[in-house]
Amino acid sequence: MPELRSPRPTSARPTPKRAGGFSIGHIFGIDIRAHFSVLLIFGLIAYSLASYTFPGWHPNWGVGMNWSLALATAMLFFASLLAHELAHSLVAKWKGIEIDRITLFLFGGVAELKSEPKTAGVEFLIAIAGPAMSALIGLVSIALASMFVGPDFVQRVTDDPAAAMKTVGALPTLLLWLGPINLILAVFNMVPGFPLDGGRVLRSILWGISGDLRKATMWATTVGRVIAFLMMGLGALEMFYGGFINGLWPVFIGWFLYSAARNSAVEMQLRTSLQGHHLSELMVTGFEFAPGDMDIDSFMRDIVLHRSQTVWPVRDGDDVIGIVSVDDLAAVPVEGRAHIHLSKIARPLGEVDFVSADLPGPEIMRKLAESDYGVMLVVSDGKIVGLLRQADVIQWMLLHGG
Ligand SMILES: [Zn+2]
Repeated sequence: MPELRSPRPTSARPTPKRAGGFSIGHIFGIDIRAHFSVLLIFGLIAYSLASYTFPGWHPNWGVGMNWSLALATAMLFFASLLAHELAHSLVAKWKGIEIDRITLFLFGGVAELKSEPKTAGVEFLIAIAGPAMSALIGLVSIALASMFVGPDFVQRVTDDPAAAMKTVGALPTLLLWLGPINLILAVFNMVPGFPLDGGRVLRSILWGISGDLRKATMWATTVGRVIAFLMMGLGALEMFYGGFINGLWPVFIGWFLYSAARNSAVEMQLRTSLQGHHLSELMVTGFEFAPGDMDIDSFMRDIVLHRSQTVWPVRDGDDVIGIVSVDDLAAVPVEGRAHIHLSKIARPLGEVDFVSADLPGPEIMRKLAESDYGVMLVVSDGKIVGLLRQADVIQWMLLHGG
């Protein structure tokens, strides 16, 4: 087997393309990213606050006032989403689980844990921390607002909402929007549909009682699917008998929850059946190397077309210098193929995902999902000993009766 040339095999990639969105900074050593959809939602929230909500409450306010408060409110809204995710992350860190990054998108975020919680108790604490933070922000905002508006505010709002709202200053106006929104977020996240926070809380409780993570996941994802169906059903009723658009949201969210619950169930089945196995049992060992000094045209005509192999480690003499895939080859314009050597288009080793042959089975899916290239080179003692694609895992599952 040819030796690998530097850089040394590593599975750590400096800037994963998969992360999506853009980085907005680091907090507690965690990379904080925002998906591009955040910009859209930020704009929508600011626009609707500045054009409808605030002018409705304060007909006497000018455009400048409405917009500056709307922008500040929208920013604090995303800051509270971030606080929710940070709460999950910091509890996870406290319990010894590393966090890759937090990505904010649409109306929420994800804190990406490097490994699954080892015990039901830890999972419970991590899952409940986020909604607890949202609830705390909600309650503190409302408490602060009530200090500004005075104790008789509820009575005044009940008597004459328009007149009562008019008397509220800028800061309490912001707080009166931010507080309830955070309470709604806390409640929505606690809906016991796995993989929402509430579903994770439910799973940790079932896990704690039964001592069986697999069963607990199946029960929690089933509850998740039932709730998703109920949501879609109620949404559909609303679409027919209420407002079409009003009903569209629950249908959309229900459908999203349904597929998330189903994916979690499938993932759990995969993890369970890979338990006790290692990557070396799944990898493809019957593969060939591509000579770096061969031109693309000859390589395609004489080798690629006669093999089922789709990814090729490329070597220069005895050194492996990179990999090429059928897609890389196809991307080279036909007229250039006869004059370009494989070594020219091979992806350098630094961009390739290397994994160790003794990687435990349940880790494989996560590594594959992280792989930009959809294929991993399996190394043992500094040598490439196998390849692994998603399709190979599926074939293994089929042969092992799922
Ligand atoms: Zn959460």
